[in-house]
Amino acid sequence: MGRIHSIETFGTVDGPGIRFVVFFQGCPLRCLYCHNPDSWNMADGKEMTADEILTRFERNRGFYKNGGITATGGEPMIQMDFLLELFTKAKERNIHTCLDTSGIAFPGDPKSPVYDKIERLMKVTDLILLDIKHIDEKDHQTLTGKSNRLILAFARYLSRIRKPVWIRHVVVPGITYNEEDLTELGRFLGTLTNIEKIEILPYHSMGKAKYENLGYQYALEDTRELTKAEAKKAKEIILKGMRK
Ligand code: SF4
Repeated sequence: MGRIHSIETFGTVDGPGIRFVVFFQGCPLRCLYCHNPDSWNMADGKEMTADEILTRFERNRGFYKNGGITATGGEPMIQMDFLLELFTKAKERNIHTCLDTSGIAFPGDPKSPVYDKIERLMKVTDLILLDIKHIDEKDHQTLTGKSNRLILAFARYLSRIRKPVWIRHVVVPGITYNEEDLTELGRFLGTLTNIEKIEILPYHSMGKAKYENLGYQYALEDTRELTKAEAKKAKEIILKGMRK
């Protein structure tokens, strides 16, 4: 059984083609800009089996011939056993699998039992969408509440095993929109060998109403949205950093 926040049956922004997007419940990060704060608490959401999810997928299988299933959240990797079961069963049915993750659940230590599960998971995962929140350790802590050490270790691990990765980076004025950090992020990405795409996600405040409904404080109240031109510039700085 997995704890699922919701399912989107016609996803067009979480991986290639049209996708059946499964939002997992629960996340250990607390990104200040998160637009799914209702996915944080593991006690919420509803229980579903992998077979239930795949049966729903099969109902409209024709839609997804150039797409597949994406696991996102929340953080799917904290429900490792369920994710492994879902993707293993999906691959048995020849479905393209895509995992959208922050990588925070990566254990780092190869002796950890989770490491073995990650190796098995990678065998049934076609593409990773890796969300790097902030390249600077201290600023990462401020932005998400956690260190980026294991996230960057996961990125290096994915490069070592040559798993295709699309990088996603939310660019926020006053937090990640600055030349130094974007260049540094580019430099880091330049050391990896498996990056197929870089997606800049411009900060928007659309999730704000959810915070009000949940009674949470929205920390970025005074932060403006990123313009399209700034998003373009941010990508150029990262690409330039990669060439350094
Ligand atoms: S990792 Fe994703 S779901 Fe978790 S807090 Fe950050 S933005 Fe929200």
